[in-house]
Amino acid sequence: MLEGTRGQALGEIDTPALILDIAAAERNIRAMADRLIHGAVRLRPHVKTHKCPLLAHKQMAAGAIGMTAAKLGEAEVMIHAGIPEVLVSTPIVGRTKIDRLLALSRHGIVLTVVDDAGAARAISDAAARVGLKIPALVDLDVGQRRTGVLPGEPALALAQQVATMPGLVLVGLQGYEGHLQHVQVRDERELHWRASMKKLTDTADLVRGAGLPLDIVSTGGTGTSTFAVEATGITEIQPGSYVVMDDHYGTVQGVGFEQALFVLTTVVSRTRTTDVIVDAGMKALSNDSGPPRVRGIEGARYTFAGDEHGRIELDGEGSDVRVGDKVLLVPSHCDTTINLHDHYHVVEDDRLVEVWPIEARGHIR
Ligand code: PLP
Ligand code: MN
Repeated sequence: MLEGTRGQALGEIDTPALILDIAAAERNIRAMADRLIHGAVRLRPHVKTHKCPLLAHKQMAAGAIGMTAAKLGEAEVMIHAGIPEVLVSTPIVGRTKIDRLLALSRHGIVLTVVDDAGAARAISDAAARVGLKIPALVDLDVGQRRTGVLPGEPALALAQQVATMPGLVLVGLQGYEGHLQHVQVRDERELHWRASMKKLTDTADLVRGAGLPLDIVSTGGTGTSTFAVEATGITEIQPGSYVVMDDHYGTVQGVGFEQALFVLTTVVSRTRTTDVIVDAGMKALSNDSGPPRVRGIEGARYTFAGDEHGRIELDGEGSDVRVGDKVLLVPSHCDTTINLHDHYHVVEDDRLVEVWPIEARGHIR
């Protein structure tokens, strides 16, 4: 293997390397599936986090009903890797993407979201011309102020228009509460979540009351999955980060999944007594959620030292860290860190067992 040798000890893997603790990831996959096992809410995990068909297949094997993707590019990778059904959670706008959506719909079930009548009509017209009907969910803004039509009457009006479009089939509502996932205090998160979900389920009732069937009411991320499992009026959740977790989620109370993702780095310079320089900088670790956490060295703190380097400030027992030593970092944000890497170095019992391509890495269109 170019990226490493099977059986190699963790400390021998060349760096910087994205490390996946597969036993922890599999426990996370199982734990989320177990949470949902008794209720009516089903699981459609978001692949925007791991971007890897091998992990998606493990989620399907654990009982997921399909996958969610942020972009058509991720959906293309998943469908061509044998995932039968993917919900694209971001509106599809423009001729080029519509053509790709229609082409992909010949290989698997691709569900779309719409929050604009004109954009919906463009998909419908193109689909109708080639004899396709694309399943569509009306996307609702439940408080994040990102995509989504406003709850209540505006959503009903759009749903009614979508229902008349010949190239679309209205199948549901999506209302993602992304602004609540990282509310640290559990009870506070739950309180806001209930208010957001009321907007979603009240709107679903309104649409159904107008005679339009909705099979799907989709919402939910890792941070709110604890509450969603017992909710009524929601049919599925679309969490992503739970498979691998990150340091930001690690600070959120009551989330309950294990850290399975690390960046392994090497100390490449120590010319001062108070810090060492490692070979993982902004090209190996995202910094939108702050610096990574250093594992296993008491009192050590990482700061970015440029594109290719990080500085680890030491105190106490870290003082014997030497050039050539390997250090494990916990990424602050999994999605954006994974998207920087081509491979997972899959590790079990501190040994490299496989190297998996991150096939949808960079598929941002
Ligand atoms: N659904 C949508 C629409 C998202 O944008 C995201 C993540 O950003 C998720 C679900 C998954 O959330 P998480 O990674 O917090 O589980
Ligand atoms: Mn994220």
